[in-house]
Amino acid sequence: MNKGFVSAITPPAHFSGAAYWFIFKGSRLLVYMDDGQARLPFLPDPAELALMPLRQQYLGYCTDPDNGFHAFCAEVDAETAVPQGMAFHRLRRLFSLLDEQLVWLAGRAVQIVDWDRATQFCGQCGGRTENQTHERAKKCPQCGRTIYPRISPAVIMAVEKSEPDGNKLLLARSHRHPPGLYSVLAGFVEPGETLETAVAREVREETSVEIKNIRYFGSQPWPFPDSLMVAFTAEYAGGEIVLEEAEMEDAGWYTPDNLPQIPPSISIASRLINWFVQKNSGADGAKA
Ligand SMILES: [Zn+2]
Repeated sequence: MNKGFVSAITPPAHFSGAAYWFIFKGSRLLVYMDDGQARLPFLPDPAELALMPLRQQYLGYCTDPDNGFHAFCAEVDAETAVPQGMAFHRLRRLFSLLDEQLVWLAGRAVQIVDWDRATQFCGQCGGRTENQTHERAKKCPQCGRTIYPRISPAVIMAVEKSEPDGNKLLLARSHRHPPGLYSVLAGFVEPGETLETAVAREVREETSVEIKNIRYFGSQPWPFPDSLMVAFTAEYAGGEIVLEEAEMEDAGWYTPDNLPQIPPSISIASRLINWFVQKNSGADGAKA
């Protein structure tokens, strides 16, 4: 993910070459569509596409010797005409259509574009903010407040239960899930909580189940709109499933050979579920 990519705030002095441009209209990204594959514009200036960005930010550069590049993000206004042969698409749709490194960079880009738009003025005194050049931040010259891009940490967890007929995984569906889809539990971290406290609280709140042996698994930025998903594994410690009805529609314990419909493979939820399946069935088909 973002292999060899170096985040930077300002382009090299006198930089004028072609770069990848992540150009957004709202949260939709401008791409060429060729034969079912998406391709990003690679050009010196969006003016070549007759585009006049409202704002732009340098993202950084990739140092890969075979595939180095610079990247910018920008936003155009809602009335902007779509250049010929191109289209604005939701990032979720582009997950499977764009090169994987560029997908994750697009996630970074949409968060920076969103932050850039929302912080033109200081939330404390209303003064016009100024971009900083030494870090990804804005500063209000009137009151001195510094404004960083917002990242909202969320925890996501695979809870495993050992039973005589095999290990089982806690899967649930909330009212927000698409019909038929089940996943591991997840929720936002609250102010003052550790990640582990948040994991135990989410499982307890949503299903009344108690857990133990909470262990870090991995993490994934999830730009919808600004989450950082921090994944854990845990073991069942006690309790019967009692659903929090406002939030949850169904939950249950599933064996590896009896899984319901689960999330797409790009998500860390899917990596957690595959971890459970591989560990408990000896199958090597599922790719982490
Ligand atoms: Zn201010």
